[in-house]
Amino acid sequence: MTQANTQPEVNIGLVGHVDHGKTTLVQALSGSWTDQHSEEMKRGISIRLGYADATFRRCPGVDEPECYTTDEECPDGSESEPLRTVSFVDAPGHETLMATMLSGASIMDGAVLVVSATEDVPQAQTEEHLMALDLIGIENIVIAQNKVDLVDRDRAVDNYEQIREFVEGTVAEGAPIVPVSAGQEVNLDLLIQAIESEIPTPERDPDEDARMFAARSFDINRPGATAEELKGGVVGGSLVQGELSVGDGLEIRPGREVEEEGQTEWRPLETSVRSLQAGSNDVESARPGGLLGVGTGLDPSLTKGDALAGQVAGEPGTLPPTRHEFEMQVDLLDRVVGKEDDESGESDIEEISTGEPLMLTVGTATTVGAVTSARDGECEVSLKRPVCAEAGAQIAINRRVGARWRLIGVGTLS
Ligand code: GDP
Ligand code: MG
Repeated sequence: MTQANTQPEVNIGLVGHVDHGKTTLVQALSGSWTDQHSEEMKRGISIRLGYADATFRRCPGVDEPECYTTDEECPDGSESEPLRTVSFVDAPGHETLMATMLSGASIMDGAVLVVSATEDVPQAQTEEHLMALDLIGIENIVIAQNKVDLVDRDRAVDNYEQIREFVEGTVAEGAPIVPVSAGQEVNLDLLIQAIESEIPTPERDPDEDARMFAARSFDINRPGATAEELKGGVVGGSLVQGELSVGDGLEIRPGREVEEEGQTEWRPLETSVRSLQAGSNDVESARPGGLLGVGTGLDPSLTKGDALAGQVAGEPGTLPPTRHEFEMQVDLLDRVVGKEDDESGESDIEEISTGEPLMLTVGTATTVGAVTSARDGECEVSLKRPVCAEAGAQIAINRRVGARWRLIGVGTLS
């Protein structure tokens, strides 16, 4: 039996309200559970971005959509043919973790919006996540109407109509709505068919400078490892352009904060690519798609505990500048989305004002900034933690509304 040994070629975000079945759907399609971390297991929510790879396959000689599968063996006993390997990025639906969803959005090529057929449409994060896809410009969307095993036919049809109306006028207007049961593994062939047609692998230029957005970083050494055994720090994330190979030089920005003579500054880290892991395979070189683990020569204390999450890596000398402050063009939403009826705080979105704090998501980085000047459609912010970002970068802007940070608009770095 052929085990598809390929690196995933496209990242597909799973978005939608908490408990609507994102993680269950990823599990049904990939066979792996994205909530691997104990804290996440305990709390029953996906706290950090989880990646899980699935190879879509096709049974030769079988009609559409029944031919689509993730099994290597077809019902008639023959072997299925691999089509492509995709990587699912499971974004948390829990409201306080919107920042994580937004940082995930920077590496998504398309998204599956999961909507439970058992609840009215839209639930708070269904709306909030769809708005985020809209703002960030993720246009390739498939809607999975999940848990259809729990409702009768009338309810399912009713709910389907609600979804269709809800997405009218948004980036998901016209997106296929596929009734599925992730739990009972019903209609997954139809869902794969829809993903194959709606979320193509983007064309990539391998000659562009390699650029990776770090989502995590680790120290993989066991306690008590001797100096000879000690392995360099590992950075996990996604390439958004170019290729990376073992032996390449690597710069990571903003890097680390150093204090010298009472002054603090951020210095880029420089090292080289010592090993590469794509999916679960060691590879010599990697392209965009999926989670990449980059073994470096860095002191593992620098990469411990996600210390480098949100940073940008690439060939030395090619990265955008580190910015402690920047100016952006601002597009605000008309109103706060994803608010529950009983929540306090204004629903209208006021202009951004000087002095107010904003939470900004730039690539996979989330940072808090204070507004130092605000004019019509433009503002300047000064950041607590610098970010590495180039002119034209998209920034998700969040403001404190009531008790929490709410997405209020999108900025474009000047
Ligand atoms: P997430 O928060 O969107 O990731 O949701 P989960 O995947 O954790 O699912 C929430 C709950 O719904 C779990 O108890 C699942 O077992 C259940 N669930 C998910 N999909 C289905 C489905 O298709 N049918 C049924 N009956 N239950 C489901
Ligand atoms: Mg989940």
